[in-house]
Amino acid sequence: MTRVLVIGGLDSSGGAGILRDVATVTRLGGQATVAVTAVTAQTDQAGFACDPVSPEVVQAQIRAAGPVDAVKIGMLCNGAITRMVAATLAEPRVTTRTETRAEAVQAGLKEGPPKDHAQTLTKTCVPADLPIVLDPVLMSSSGMVLLDADGQDALLTTLLPLCSVVTPNLPELAALSPLSTGETAGVGHLLRHGAGAVLVKGGHGSDRVQVEDRLYKRDDTPLRFAAPRIDKTLRGTGCHLASAMAVSLARGRGLSQAVREAREDLLLRFRTA
Ligand code: PLP
Repeated sequence: MTRVLVIGGLDSSGGAGILRDVATVTRLGGQATVAVTAVTAQTDQAGFACDPVSPEVVQAQIRAAGPVDAVKIGMLCNGAITRMVAATLAEPRVTTRTETRAEAVQAGLKEGPPKDHAQTLTKTCVPADLPIVLDPVLMSSSGMVLLDADGQDALLTTLLPLCSVVTPNLPELAALSPLSTGETAGVGHLLRHGAGAVLVKGGHGSDRVQVEDRLYKRDDTPLRFAAPRIDKTLRGTGCHLASAMAVSLARGRGLSQAVREAREDLLLRFRTA
């Protein structure tokens, strides 16, 4: 079973945040564990309240998740939580899990351990091996702040170097690179801070006919993914895309293939919503 740890905020309306992340991982046949960073009260139109979870409890949730195949990060709320998430993911974690007979057989052990014997496996999870997808959400469409200014600094300096890919939309890209103008400069800023790759989501662009996302990998010309613009507003699309990418990366797909698969699944949800 593909295990994905989703780190983010609880949107009480269920439209976005970790409820959307868990729904996406589940619909793709994966298993989600969560680390909640904040509890919010929201509707599709307005945000009423936001209570951050203490950084220590966020850390405990991440540690409790045990071994996972990928991580998806969304709302981080503030600097203290962002720094704690980065520090915890960066820990050279040695995690253990109990392997059942069935899992051992599946993993290629012909006989498997004796029936009543649970074998403890030790697996070292170093961040370099672990796909981490960061959706740098700063504000909800209803105007609720999802990451404060200190959090944005912490995201750039502590979290980006751990991330395989970061998925800003155009306003997020501009906000995270205030001194750089233009997409290429903004992307360069995020890559210089250590992100493995940047997927710029073009949904806020001016083209009314089609939407184009662009994947920038290091030393590569950007890959373009275009699709007709769908005249429908659906919340949580960024959460969905990043979570679906995490599932694909967890299953060993390359980055471009992960983007392709995630976009296909998002389109399917649009069609059936
Ligand atoms: N609320 C939470 C907790 C979120 O994590 C997000 C996005 O990640 C949002 C709200 C924003 O969703 P939308 O932009 O679809 O309103």
